[in-house]
Amino acid sequence: MIENSFNRRDFLKVLGWGSATVALSGCGNTSVEDGKEFVTSYVQTADYIIPSIGTYFNSTCAQCDAGCGIMGRVREGRVLKLEGNPKSSINNGKMCGLGQAGVQAHYNPDRIREPLLRNGDKGEAITWEKALGLINEKVGGVRAENVAFLTGGVSGHVKALLKNYLDALGSGHHYVYEAVAPSVMRAANKKAYGVEMPRLRMDKAKVILSFGADFLGAWISPVHFSQQYARFRKADNGKRGVLVQVESKMTLTGANADRWLVIRPGTEGIFALGLINALAAAGLSVPGDVAAVVKEYTTDRVSKDTGVPTEHIAKLAALLKERSPSLIIAGSAAEGYAHGSQNATAIALLNQVLGNVGKTVEGSSGIPFPQMAPTTGNRQALQILNDNMAQDKVKVLFSYGSNPVFTAPASMKLKENLKKVPFKVAFAHYMDETAVEADLVLPLNSALEDWGTVMPEYIADGAQLNIRQPLMEKLHPGTLGMGDILLALLKQRRPEEYKGYEDFYSYLRNAMVSNKGALGGANADDNTFWEAALSHGMVKLVGSPINISSHVSANGLVVPAPFVEDSTYPLHLIPAVSASLRDGRNANEPWLQESPDPLTTIVWDSWVEMHPKTAAKLGIVEGDIVEVASKSGAIKAQVYVFTGIHPDVISVPLGYGHEAMGRYAKGVGVNAFKILDPVFDKETGELAMHETRVKVSKAGQRVIIVKDEGPAGGNQMGRKIAVRMSSDKVNLSKEV
Ligand code: SF4
Repeated sequence: MIENSFNRRDFLKVLGWGSATVALSGCGNTSVEDGKEFVTSYVQTADYIIPSIGTYFNSTCAQCDAGCGIMGRVREGRVLKLEGNPKSSINNGKMCGLGQAGVQAHYNPDRIREPLLRNGDKGEAITWEKALGLINEKVGGVRAENVAFLTGGVSGHVKALLKNYLDALGSGHHYVYEAVAPSVMRAANKKAYGVEMPRLRMDKAKVILSFGADFLGAWISPVHFSQQYARFRKADNGKRGVLVQVESKMTLTGANADRWLVIRPGTEGIFALGLINALAAAGLSVPGDVAAVVKEYTTDRVSKDTGVPTEHIAKLAALLKERSPSLIIAGSAAEGYAHGSQNATAIALLNQVLGNVGKTVEGSSGIPFPQMAPTTGNRQALQILNDNMAQDKVKVLFSYGSNPVFTAPASMKLKENLKKVPFKVAFAHYMDETAVEADLVLPLNSALEDWGTVMPEYIADGAQLNIRQPLMEKLHPGTLGMGDILLALLKQRRPEEYKGYEDFYSYLRNAMVSNKGALGGANADDNTFWEAALSHGMVKLVGSPINISSHVSANGLVVPAPFVEDSTYPLHLIPAVSASLRDGRNANEPWLQESPDPLTTIVWDSWVEMHPKTAAKLGIVEGDIVEVASKSGAIKAQVYVFTGIHPDVISVPLGYGHEAMGRYAKGVGVNAFKILDPVFDKETGELAMHETRVKVSKAGQRVIIVKDEGPAGGNQMGRKIAVRMSSDKVNLSKEV
């Protein structure tokens, strides 16, 4: 890795940034052979460029919101491979498969390469000057309150510029929407502990009881949690940590658990209150108000409601009492219901009575620059925007970092309401479903060719400002970074204030250098500070710790009885968040489509996971195509029969079923978001992702599922391959 020895901008100039010295293009559509790609030698190379030897640069992964630090290996001007940045306290040098696929997002042949203006059903290429002029004209022609900006989670200097732009317009309408987010848990944590995202110290816990938090797969910051989990399992204190996972559909974390307990959907809160009651009966000191609430949750009743055998409840209570501290985690399995907030509160109460708060549930760190702190999203924000669009209150809509046309349930009628907005601008990498609906599409730089800063929501150790910097020259001269676009828009509105910044790079450098004292560089000169920050890929922030409180109130806590039988829609649908496709934003990266799902090993398609008993009752076998119908719509997919799921539940992975986006995403699988019913958490108003009821019927076709494992007990080219084994045989509920 290069350490502070050169000017980063000169490096990019050497590589031909903005010049004709080295002409590079995407690997997907052009090649040296077809004569469209030119390879020329460097006219002038820096000392550190040695042909065939890689140089590493630190930056920040953009494949999910965890904000892991990355090191990109660059050779002859091209980034070839990503590794984790050892200096980042989020991922400590490690990465996940989704992060590795970042190079495929960068070299993707379907990236948009120039601004496109709608002309009927087509996009007509226009110049940036014309595109930005058009925006100026449109926002100038409407009232400020009719301009709205929809984004995914944002942080850092782009967030600050975005706010400044909205302020300059006089609009306060910034809607932050995340299709898959722990919003109910954040709200419950705020109530219970005073912070939305307390630090979960798995490494200090002796038992982890997780209610469907897939922290090894797709939950919040999986690379970080995987490392914590490794320490938890290492048994430094002589006793190997015990993981108990309670959920209705097995996740990757559930598959790694010592004890996997399948539970009736939505009864997680009842289970938590039953455990408190059992702990009180076993002599644990429980506050009076809590004891009064939990006394009716007897082990027998809880077993009947949840479907978890009484002996498992008793053994788990004994384990929690014996091994302290423990850590109880409320994951998406608990929060995805109309009473998700009550479930999450009951789980927080369990942490409190076990004395975990302050030991394994810790406070976070204050952020010294609140204007750059992460703005996290929820689904309620999209609902409000949707209502405003339906009432013709939005005249100009910007969208960035989110694809609501793909992720909104059909019942919202978001696509229809979007059509009521006269001028829609999408900042995008691909022509995804939302960009297709836009009037103006502005192509963005990839994360590997962009400048920016990122402040992740979950950092175990203090706070840090991650830096994103280009690892190579832009592949397509017609793309721009979001920071540069916002700066250009701000120059239209506040020219005096921003005229001193040639581009976003100069704005960013100036903003950081002028705050170097608070960014750990008080004693360094400007260049030394800046080059060290780029070299490390981050700066550590000095923030005061936020203490955690422990005042979960049991007053008024009532967790409703388990779901009622519904003869028309007898099954619960769990839309599963996979470690690779997540909410579908990465579906056009073929490595991710090709990576086998860790539990089913299925590739390149959706599937309906179903328990053998349910399949037998419906006369269904593996590979049958079935129709899954809710009150809101229907999808068709192949069935995968699997014992790691409750018989009352079926599960379909999210992220598949794109109708646009690119050649690798379009037409692959089905979109489970579309059939979700409009049921909301009663306290937060969040979409209750697990509350949709469905019926399943055979569609009259059968296919051979494309899996990585091959046929059970089979071989490949005469060589034995891994044999599939049912979870019954491996005894998933084995004792520890
Ligand atoms: S968890 Fe994986 S995808 Fe997400 S930021 Fe970290 S490396 Fe990237």
